Amino acid sequence: AAKEQGGGDYRFFTEEMNRKALYRMKMESSLRKALDRNEMLLYYQPLVNESNRIVGMEALLRWNHPEMGLILPNDFIRITEETGIIVPLGRWVLQTACTQLKHWHDLGHSDLFVAVNISARQLQEADFVKTVLDILDQTGLSPEWLKLEVTESSVIRNPEVCIAKMKALRTKGVSFSIDDFGTGYSSLSYLKRFPIDTLKIDRSFICDAMNNEGDREIIKTIIDMARNLNIEAVAEGVETQEQMDFLAGYGCNNMQGFLFARPVPVGAFKNLLDKQNGGPVSK
Ligand code: C2E
Ligand code: MG
Ligand code: MG
Ligand code: MG
Repeated sequence: AAKEQGGGDYRFFTEEMNRKALYRMKMESSLRKALDRNEMLLYYQPLVNESNRIVGMEALLRWNHPEMGLILPNDFIRITEETGIIVPLGRWVLQTACTQLKHWHDLGHSDLFVAVNISARQLQEADFVKTVLDILDQTGLSPEWLKLEVTESSVIRNPEVCIAKMKALRTKGVSFSIDDFGTGYSSLSYLKRFPIDTLKIDRSFICDAMNNEGDREIIKTIIDMARNLNIEAVAEGVETQEQMDFLAGYGCNNMQGFLFARPVPVGAFKNLLDKQNGGPVSK
C-alpha cells in the first residue's frame, strides 16, 4: 500500500523502520552491558501509613546511561523482558534491595519492608523460588520484610504454576502485592485463589479520583474487596491532600506517592528515615 502511494513514502517507511531497528539494537546491546558497567541503580520511594510514618519502600530501577543520562524503567524494561535480560537484572535488583534493607535494619530502622517489582519472565523461571530464598539467605534479610509486586497479567498467564511458587515463598514468610490493581481483568473469585497480601490500587484511578465519580466508585470497590478478602489495600500515585483524605475516609491507610516523597537515591532515602526517627542513627 505504501508503494502505491509513491516511491517517496515507501522509502520513508523503510528508513523509519531502519532507524527504529537500529535504535532497538543499540539499546539491547547497551542493556546487555549495563549491569557489568555498574550503570544500574535503585531509587527508593516510601510507603507510609495513616500517621505518615514510613513503613516500607518500593525499589525502583534506574539506568544511568553514559550518554543519555538517567533513563526510567518504562523506556527499557520491555526490552529487558523480551530479551530475557530481566532475569539477571531482576536478580540484581532483588539482591541489591535486600542488601540495602538489611543495612538499614542494622542501623536501627528495623521495622521497614522493601517491595520489589517482579516481571512475568522472572516468575516463569524454573528456579525463581530458589533464587529468592538464596538471596534472602545470603543477605540475612528476614523473609517477612520482603514483598514481591506482581501484576494481574503476569500471574494470569500460567496461574497454577504461579500460585504454587507464590505459596512456596509465602510459607517462608515472603509476601505478595498485586501491582497496578484494577487495570487487569481479575474477578473477585479469581483473585481468591492467589496467595496475596496486598492490592495496590493503580495510579490511574487515584489520579482522576477527584474529578471522576466512576474512579471513586472503583477505588471504593477495591478497598471493600480487599477488606472482604482480609488483605491490605495500598494506593499508589497519591499526589494531593484531597486524594489522601478521600482514601483515608474509605479506610485505605497505606499510601505511596509524590505527596509524601518521590523515588529518591539511597542517600536521600536514608535522610528521610533519619528525619522520621529524629536525627541520624549513629553506628
Ligand atoms: P510501578 O511498580 O507501578 O511503580 C510505581 C511508579 O509510579 C514508579 O514509576 C513511581 O515513580 C511512580 N509514582 C509513584 N508515585 C507517584 C505519584 O504520586 N505520581 C506519579 N505521577 N507517579 C508516581 P517508575 O519508577 O518510572 O517505574 C515505572 C514502572 O517500571 C513500575 O511501575 C514497574 O512496573 C516498573 N519497574 C520499576 N522498577 C522495576 C524493577 O526493578 N523490575 C521490574 N520488573 N519492573 C520495574
Ligand atoms: Mg510496583
Ligand atoms: Mg504500581
Ligand atoms: Mg503503576
